[in-house]
Amino acid sequence: MATVFFLPNTVEEACSILEEWGDDAIITNGGTDIVIDISKGNLIPHANVCIWNINELHQIKMDGDYVRVGGAATYKEMMNSSLTKEFPGLIEAVSQIGSPGIRQVATLAGNICTAAPAADGCTMAMGLDAQIVLKSATGERIVPLSHMMIGRGKTKRRGNELLTAILIPTSKKNCAYGRLARRRASDIAKVMVGASLEIEDGICTRAVVSLGALGPVPCRAYSIEQKLEGKPIRTGIEQLRGVFPEEAKPRISQFKRYKEQALPTLLVRTLELAAQRGGA
Ligand SMILES: Cc1cc2nc3c(=O)[nH]c(=O)nc-3n(C[C@H](O)[C@H](O)[C@H](O)COP(=O)(O)OP(=O)(O)OC[C@H]3O[C@@H](n4cnc5c(N)ncnc54)[C@H](O)[C@@H]3O)c2cc1C
Repeated sequence: MATVFFLPNTVEEACSILEEWGDDAIITNGGTDIVIDISKGNLIPHANVCIWNINELHQIKMDGDYVRVGGAATYKEMMNSSLTKEFPGLIEAVSQIGSPGIRQVATLAGNICTAAPAADGCTMAMGLDAQIVLKSATGERIVPLSHMMIGRGKTKRRGNELLTAILIPTSKKNCAYGRLARRRASDIAKVMVGASLEIEDGICTRAVVSLGALGPVPCRAYSIEQKLEGKPIRTGIEQLRGVFPEEAKPRISQFKRYKEQALPTLLVRTLELAAQRGGA
């Protein structure tokens, strides 16, 4: 069976192709995940919609109280944008992904839609409480990133939908990212923590904490967020020393002992950095 290849120039064109082909179509963005599946023969699509040429999807711009990262914006484009550079944790996460060659083409949208356990960009974006914009020929909906992944390799995206943007709240600039891997370059991390803190007069008014590489997909550490909110931030972080987040407990399989020992320390270090960036 031959695959029909599409190279749309606009979001509308892409959505109308997806409306026609639905689950028989795949979307190729930077291709760093999906091309591996195609070349191994694990995926034989009827139609392949490459969204690389859609200029609008490469844009990173303000959208009310959010920074809107387009659905085809690459890590390199994010690292060069003055808007995304204001989120130090996000830059820490995306600048450690793969290698310069990977970051030149790979995208945050692809990292989210792949729904892999050790996804750096996705883990940090979840720690920023990002929202996902999904568009089809018939409408648009917004899904919180923390609800987007429903299992390894599975998301809430429907076959006729294109991820057009990731919305990052501007209130989340006091953020940090921590990752532990065997090597600094080109290695998938074994433990990941993303965090953003809102602090007023030394009190933590809002905490968002995410964990990666600890289960089938990244997840929020709500138990940790609750322990921080409403407390002086330094006291809250101090009380977390040695605490292993409840959400990670049933999830770890590989490298269990290493992760159990490493996660509490990485969590505190990441929160300390975010607090420092928030002036506390
Ligand atoms: C050598 C190497 C090293 C790597 N290192 C890392 C690493 O350190 N950390 C890490 O997290 N990842 C790493 N990766 C994985 C990969 O680079 C990332 O997950 C990347 O962000 C995927 O983006 P992409 O644009 O290439 O996605 P693609 O491969 O184009 O697409 C991935 C999936 O997302 C879907 N998709 C993409 N964009 C959209 C959209 N706009 N709307 C709807 N669906 C969409 C595709 O259909 C596909 O299912 C590495 C990969 C390689 C090959």
